[in-house]
Amino acid sequence: MRAIWWRYLIVGAVLSAGVLLLPVGLGRDLGCGLIGFSAVVAIVVGVRRHDPPHRRGWYLMAAGNAAWVLGDGTYSWLEHGLGVSAFPSVADVAYLAAYPMLASGLLVLVRSRGTESSLAAVLDGAILTVGLALVSWVFLIEPTWAGGGAVTDRVVEVAYPVGDVLLFAVLMRLVTARREATMASLLLAGSFVVLIITDSLFVASTWVAGIAAHVPVLDLGWLGAYVLWGAAALHPSMRALSGRGPTQVASSETGRLLALAASAAIVPGVLAVEMVAKAPLHLSAIIIAANALIVLFVVRMIRMVGQLERQSAQLNTLAGTDYLTGLANRRQIVDHVGWLLDSHHGAEMLTISVERFNELNDVLGDRAGDAILQAVGARLVTLVGPGAMVARVADHRFGVLDPAVTCGQDAEVDAIRIRRALELPFDLPELNVSVQVSVAALVLPQDAPEPALALRRVGIALAVAKGRPDRVARYQAEMESGGALALVLIGELSDALRDGDVVLHYQPQVDLRSARVFGVEALARWQHPKYGLLGPDAFIPAAEQSGLIGPLTQYVLDRALAQNARWRHDGMNVTVAVNLSARNLLDPNLVDHVGAALHRHGLDASALELEITESSAMVDPRRCIEVLTALAAMGVTLSVDDYGTGHSSLAYLQRLPVTRLKIDRSFVTDMVSDEASAAIVRSTIELARNLRLDVVAEGVEDDATLLALRDMHCPAVQGYGLGRPVPPTEVRELITRIQSRVPEVLQVHPHRAPDGFRQPAPIITHPHGEPVIAPTGRRGGRRS
Ligand code: C2E
Ligand code: CA
Ligand code: CA
Repeated sequence: MRAIWWRYLIVGAVLSAGVLLLPVGLGRDLGCGLIGFSAVVAIVVGVRRHDPPHRRGWYLMAAGNAAWVLGDGTYSWLEHGLGVSAFPSVADVAYLAAYPMLASGLLVLVRSRGTESSLAAVLDGAILTVGLALVSWVFLIEPTWAGGGAVTDRVVEVAYPVGDVLLFAVLMRLVTARREATMASLLLAGSFVVLIITDSLFVASTWVAGIAAHVPVLDLGWLGAYVLWGAAALHPSMRALSGRGPTQVASSETGRLLALAASAAIVPGVLAVEMVAKAPLHLSAIIIAANALIVLFVVRMIRMVGQLERQSAQLNTLAGTDYLTGLANRRQIVDHVGWLLDSHHGAEMLTISVERFNELNDVLGDRAGDAILQAVGARLVTLVGPGAMVARVADHRFGVLDPAVTCGQDAEVDAIRIRRALELPFDLPELNVSVQVSVAALVLPQDAPEPALALRRVGIALAVAKGRPDRVARYQAEMESGGALALVLIGELSDALRDGDVVLHYQPQVDLRSARVFGVEALARWQHPKYGLLGPDAFIPAAEQSGLIGPLTQYVLDRALAQNARWRHDGMNVTVAVNLSARNLLDPNLVDHVGAALHRHGLDASALELEITESSAMVDPRRCIEVLTALAAMGVTLSVDDYGTGHSSLAYLQRLPVTRLKIDRSFVTDMVSDEASAAIVRSTIELARNLRLDVVAEGVEDDATLLALRDMHCPAVQGYGLGRPVPPTEVRELITRIQSRVPEVLQVHPHRAPDGFRQPAPIITHPHGEPVIAPTGRRGGRRS
């Protein structure tokens, strides 16, 4: 069963057609009156049924329809009852009274919808109305007026097209408002259109003979208007015609523009029609309409441009905003970097990465993850200066651009401060959580003169920061050693380890009292098929960051011990030192691996020295002490590499079970020329002696340094001045050379070392007669 509005529409249409078949006369007029009256009733019923907001509008329209019915009745009574065919008559009073009622009723509904984009809608309505008004004037009003006759007659006659233009204007307000079209609005608009067309044809019938002959057919138009009106009121969507509701944002803008263009085209169109018809031109009306249209279009354009500008500004903001935190996004901060550099402004650029965020997200859930990121972003904003830009640049990465900081040291201080502040707990609803962050800093423009470089370099610094104990790093050119190559290499490293392309070179370590070689340090190189022999700086940092450092260290350990076993088998008793990375110390299997490797090659633990750096011992001190204690218990010699470059105090190092310090070569190499370096080396040697730690000075490049170190009572040395790292096949020869040259330089007799130093190393005579020494050190030359 169809709804009531539908039945009304069908029955109304059928009855209207039926009425049309009746001969002109009272019977037919009665039919028309009844259909008109039904529309009035339908409107009242519709209002009761659907209870729309702003009923007044609907009642006004009902009254308008009722006025028409009254007009029809009066007209019929005059013409067919009294036989008076007068124009104008009382009927016209009723007819014309309907227009203001209908128009104002509709206007009540239209205006109740609020003022959304109302100016544009009003302008559009006005543009369309001017078009219709011109057509009405040229083809209906003016010819009717010019037709002559009594003034009252002409006024009444002209009032109809004027009323239609009025209704059209209001109708345009209805259709141009940005609302979705409903059935009720379509029916209502249809009713108006039918009415206006029928009225216009009727007015034209006075001077267009073709129409005059069929005037009774026009009844169908008026009846149709009634029925459509009633159906609109009965349709449930009539409620939505008035009152506020959702506006349709992208209403068919093209359709609207076409209608506006059509309205503008009416001016030349009318002119063309008149010229073709050789009719007198309505020039003043055309000029007035054209000017009105121009003014309306200009205002409309200005408004449209303003709206577009606002929209594009809005889009721009959206495009530069991170949806989750409301901060700037990567695009915006990159643009800003470009702008700062272009305008020669300096700024600090920080990248902050929330560590292990994916794990947090997995464990706590996406919502908590989002809340954490929002909290980090919000706190970050409070930590930077007022002129700084804070952005979320990637999933769990933030960026800061602060033009107030232009010096590298300040940027570093800032990075540390921000890292600390972000790691304080977050008090989130239902969740108390703290995060770890890494912070990379660089300073524009000195660290990077262009945006792409800035992004790349801050990324490099971040990778470095992640590996540091304090998780903060400022970009430095050295960080790029290997640079892009490192990325290529890292993909090939596993294969290189499998194929044995990573080789070890060995650098001798010399005991200064005896002038004898007691050990060698194993240093990794990569015999690369394409790039030749690569130094460790080219691939160790990348291996550290990619997690391949574990396999690499095992590989080096295994090779170094295998080589040592071979040497020992050949009677050359030296220790071998292997470098460990920070990550190795966090590996729970390290101790087992070392033990297994020693066992595999039949070596005593004293044959092995492991070198760790100060900073790697600081990554996780508790864990580190555990691992080192286990290794020391095994009998492995532990030494602190690059001593002096970290920030650890000797007091802290003393808590570690290390027995040797290797003074960094940066102090040693120029200690002869540089007082400060010399002082540092001297005091380190003294302190170490008090702490009963052994010392090796690295980076001894000449004999002057060697002698200076001897005078400082340095126990042992290593460096190019004694011997460069060489492949295993050349080690024996190098040791022989050192041991024949160095005693002379130092003027020591192998068997008479000064008191208070190491015990003289027992000399082992190799089957081939070359002298080598057994390892010495605080553990005393234990032989395996
Ligand atoms: P390091 O442990 O401090 O090794 C000493 C480095 O100083 C070696 O560089 C050596 O060739 C160089 N050197 C020795 N004597 C002198 C000298 O008199 N003057 C100068 N200017 N340099 C000297 P190399 O072989 O390039 O190694 C660089 C670093 O790579 C090493 O520094 C070490 O930290 C790392 N490395 C090397 N092999 C391995 C390895 O197997 N595992 C790990 N984790 N790191 C390694
Ligand atoms: Ca080392
Ligand atoms: Ca070193």
